[in-house]
Amino acid sequence: MIQIAGLHKSFDGLHVLNGIDLFVEKGKTAVIIGPSGSGKTTLLRCLNLLEMPEQGTLSIAKIGIAFSGNHRIDQTVVKAIRKQTGMVFQSYNLFPHLTALENIMEGQVIVLKRPKAEARERAVALLSKVGLRERADMYPHQLSGGQQQRVGIARAMAMDPGVLLFDEPTSALDPELVGDVLLVMKGLAHEGMTMVVVTHEMGFARDVADQVVFMDQGVIVEKGTPEDIFEHAQNERTLQFLKKIR
Ligand code: ADP
Repeated sequence: MIQIAGLHKSFDGLHVLNGIDLFVEKGKTAVIIGPSGSGKTTLLRCLNLLEMPEQGTLSIAKIGIAFSGNHRIDQTVVKAIRKQTGMVFQSYNLFPHLTALENIMEGQVIVLKRPKAEARERAVALLSKVGLRERADMYPHQLSGGQQQRVGIARAMAMDPGVLLFDEPTSALDPELVGDVLLVMKGLAHEGMTMVVVTHEMGFARDVADQVVFMDQGVIVEKGTPEDIFEHAQNERTLQFLKKIR
C-alpha cells in the first residue's frame, strides 16, 4: 500500500529526512518512534504531500510519484495521493463552528460531492463506531479532547482513504482520555485499515504494530516486529532511546 525509496527533505539547508525507505503492506500498521526532532512528523507529512520531498519515490495505493529537485510535480497525482491518505492531527483541527456530525459530513459533501443524506448517514455510522453517536450535535468546544480526537478519526475515515496517518494523536490529551482514542485506533487496525502512526505510546506500538520503525536524525535506524525492536534491538541508538523511555 505504501512504498517509499530514497526520500529526502530539507528545510532551509537542514537535512531532515536523509534517504528514507519504507514499505507498508495493505492492512498493516506501522508505528514510527524516535526522539523529538528525528523527522517522524516530516515523514508523515511527506506521505500525504503536506510537505514535498526533494528526492526519492513514493507510491501509495499504486499511485506513484518521483521527486527530483526542480522537476515539476503533476498536480493530479498529488490530488490522487491526498485522496488516499487521511490525516489525524495531534491538535484535532476540527472546524469550531461545525457540530461533530457536520465536521464529518463537510469533506464528503465538498470534496467527494456526496449527496448530503448519504454523507449524513455515513457520518452517523462513523460516530457510532467511535462511540459518540449521542454527541452528534455538539460543537468541538463542548467535547473533551479525547472525544474531539475520535471525531477527527471519524472525519478522516469518512473520506474512504486507503491509508490513515496519525501524528501523535494522543500527545495533547489528558492521560485518562488516551485509552479511548487508542482503543478506536486498535479497532481500526484489527479491521484491516492500513495505518502509519507516529506516537510515544510504546504499549500501543507493542500491541498493535505489525512493524515498528525507529528513526533518529533523519534516517530509519532500525525496523522490525515489536519483538525485534523492543526485545532484540541491534543498534546502539535504538537501545539508548528505549532505555530512556522505560
Ligand atoms: P519529530 O516529529 O521527530 O519530532 P519533525 O519532523 O517535527 O521531528 O522535525 C524534524 C526537524 O525538522 C526538526 O529539527 C524541526 O525543527 C525541523 N522542521 C520541521 N518542520 C519544519 C519547517 N516547516 N520548517 C523548518 N524546519 C522544520
